Amino acid sequence: MTDAPRHTLLDTTDSTEAVYDETASVAVETGLAVPSETVAEDGMGCHAGADTMRAAAKAAGQSELLDRYAADYPQGPHDQPQSMCPAFGSLRVGLRMKRTATILSGSACCVYGLSFTSHFYGAKRSVGYVPFNSETLVTGKLFEDIKEAVELSANPDKYDAIVVTNLCVPTASGVPLRLLPKVINGVRIVGIDVPGFGVPTHAEAKDILAGAMLNYAREEIAAGPVPRAAGAASGRPKVTLLGEMFPADPVVIGRMLDPLGLDVGTTVPTREWRELYTALDGAVVGAIHPFYTASIREFEAAGRPVVGSAPVGLDGTLSWLQSVGAQVGVAQKTLDQTKNGLAKAIKAALKANPVKGRITLSGYEGSELLVARLLVESGADVRYVGTACARTRWSEADRDWLEAHGVHVTYRASLEDDLAAFKAFEPDLAIGTTPVVQAAKEAATPSLYFTNLISARPLMGPAGAGALAQVVNTAIQNKTRFDKMNAFFDEVGTGDRAGIWEHTPETHDDFRAKQRRKLALQAKREANIEEPIGC
Ligand code: SF4
Repeated sequence: MTDAPRHTLLDTTDSTEAVYDETASVAVETGLAVPSETVAEDGMGCHAGADTMRAAAKAAGQSELLDRYAADYPQGPHDQPQSMCPAFGSLRVGLRMKRTATILSGSACCVYGLSFTSHFYGAKRSVGYVPFNSETLVTGKLFEDIKEAVELSANPDKYDAIVVTNLCVPTASGVPLRLLPKVINGVRIVGIDVPGFGVPTHAEAKDILAGAMLNYAREEIAAGPVPRAAGAASGRPKVTLLGEMFPADPVVIGRMLDPLGLDVGTTVPTREWRELYTALDGAVVGAIHPFYTASIREFEAAGRPVVGSAPVGLDGTLSWLQSVGAQVGVAQKTLDQTKNGLAKAIKAALKANPVKGRITLSGYEGSELLVARLLVESGADVRYVGTACARTRWSEADRDWLEAHGVHVTYRASLEDDLAAFKAFEPDLAIGTTPVVQAAKEAATPSLYFTNLISARPLMGPAGAGALAQVVNTAIQNKTRFDKMNAFFDEVGTGDRAGIWEHTPETHDDFRAKQRRKLALQAKREANIEEPIGC
């Protein structure tokens, strides 16, 4: 141990950067030096087998956890995530909460990737790390190291909670985070396992942490009085919203709820611990994103009714308000008056912002079906929606509506599904994940990245009704630029033959086939010697 200061404060006083919360002013943990021999050995990561990891986890007493994840987050056509490491979802949720520390336990390469990505997305928070090696993993010393790290970090002046996350290898090895103290110095300790071999998407990992925190908060409420969150005292029934949204969306929803005598409540995942209590206190929960299975379990255990879908477009907004109003006993006359007023505004916004063109859409955020509804109501010819998330009853209304409007909906869509839809429907615009966007660009088809360009816009009510038209129409109109580029770069070849050559390279497919056979043989031999561990 060392007496050196464990944290520093970033000086942002002279910064001209625009900020919307206080994350830029938090202390940055500098941690303790790690002896080089305490770094995980290779052979344990994404490049190894998910089945082996799962078998190891079961042998280490994690069967119950894996069975719960299998029920909450059923696997799709492939058994491991096709997007980023799922733990990024829960990491991001923790990093966005005030007075919450985050500690990861996993292979160094995983932690490097996760902390890099979180800072790339502007986390401005310290990511704690407890490294391990084979010895500390198998002897149980890793658990003691985690416990020590948690005890060192549990400073009630700085934190309400510490989130400890087991990544793939510690989960497979059964590092028992459930044995950590529930509270140290008044700081809550929340331990979760987020393995890539049990959690299919980073979206669902958000639910794992949100569900764990709601569970903790529910037990606190059951045990006695809890503090009230700021701004929680209006006395009117509140609607808790489930799912990360564009910051303006809860405000727009609040305006629509106001004439019904309701307030918009907390959005889960929350931004601070006390908001968990107000979330659980909501009169009704709107499962805006339908994959929050564990969180919904907590709300239902707290006796809160849950409604699916979201107030998007005309039909979506009217039926969502009806469902919410009915749950809290709003008079039908009041509901009808409110809906009539909103219908006029939404119809006008949709009419003023038409979208023209054929579109395929895919993503892994969980809001894909909602965006597709909005596009259809805006006039787009949407043929296919693929979501990496699983089918739950909270998106049934959206699926029914889309299918009734001729849209093909695929849950747990793989990249192969998305690309096949792109080929089959030949859209004017492909909205999708990075590899889908890349494939569309190669085919000279305009494309938009769902996460950054579509889901980062208002979607709800009258504000959402016109929000997508500009970006979508502009992209579609770019087709002529793609055609020009295609013509310009025509005949420069593709793949291994891309470029300007005096003699176009021969691809020598026979050599490659030979090397592939050799590698397959070598892999087979190695598999017989030693079964690797990884996701
Ligand atoms: S091995 Fe597991 S924890 Fe590490 S990057 Fe892959 S999925 Fe994430």
